[in-house]
Amino acid sequence: MAEIRLENVTKRYIEEKRPHYAVREISLSVEQGEFIFLIGSSGAGKSTLLKLIGGEMAPDQGVVYLNGSNVARLIGPWRARVARTFGVVSQQCLLVRKRTIGDNLLLAAGAAGLRRKGRQAMKKALGIVGLPNVEGCYPAELSIGECRRVELARALLSSPPVLLLDELTANLDDDSIWDLMHLLNELNNMGTTIIMATHASQYVNIMRRRVLTLVDGRLAGDVKHGKYGDIV
Ligand code: ADP
Repeated sequence: MAEIRLENVTKRYIEEKRPHYAVREISLSVEQGEFIFLIGSSGAGKSTLLKLIGGEMAPDQGVVYLNGSNVARLIGPWRARVARTFGVVSQQCLLVRKRTIGDNLLLAAGAAGLRRKGRQAMKKALGIVGLPNVEGCYPAELSIGECRRVELARALLSSPPVLLLDELTANLDDDSIWDLMHLLNELNNMGTTIIMATHASQYVNIMRRRVLTLVDGRLAGDVKHGKYGDIV
C-alpha cells in the first residue's frame, strides 16, 4: 500500500545562473489504486513531477510524503523501501542493446535486490506483459511496442504498488497504445496505482480517469473522471 501526498512542492533548475521553475507549489494526494493521467505540453513539468513523486529527486521547497513519511528525510532501509514502492518507466529506453531481454531483466532484478528470486520474477513479469517467449531475444529484434512492454516488465519485477510511467505510449501505433492501456487497466484493477504522463489524448478521453494537468509547472487541473484539456 502506498499513500502519496505532496505539499506545496517546488523544483527549480539553475539555467545560466538563473532559477527556472520546473514544478511550482504543487499539492495533491494519491490513494492506493488510483489511475492518473498526467498531461501538459512539453516542458510543463511532467517528468520532473514523476521524479519528485518517486523520490528520484528532492524538492527545493515543500514535502513529498509516502505513507506519512517525508521521503527526503528517509535513509538506509527506509530509503530502499521507497525505491521498492515505485516501478518506473522513464522516457528514454534503458534496455542494454548488447544484452538479451532475459539478461537485461536479470540485471535489473539483481539491482533491485531480488538475486535468487530474479529468474522467477523475470518470467512472471514477462508473462504479465504478454511476452513470455522473448527472454533470448535482443532489444533490436523486438518492435518498439514490445520494447516498451519489456520496460514495463522491468518496472514490475518487484511487484511495486505504484507504477510511474513517463510517455510509455510515445511513438507507438494505435493498436499498441490500446493494448498497453488495456494491460495498465488490468494492473490497476488488481490494485496497482498508475501515474502516467502521456500525450495520448484520445485514450485519456475514452478512459475517463483522474486527469492532472500541468501548465508551466503549476497544477492547472485535477479532475476525477477527466478529459484531456480539462482545467478545474
Ligand atoms: P515535461 O516532462 O512536461 O516535458 P520536464 O519536467 O521534463 O517537462 O521539464 C520541465 C522544465 O524543466 C522544462 O522547461 C525543462 O527544460 C526543464 N528541465 C528539465 N530537466 C532539466 C535539467 N536537468 N536541467 C535544466 N532544466 C531542466
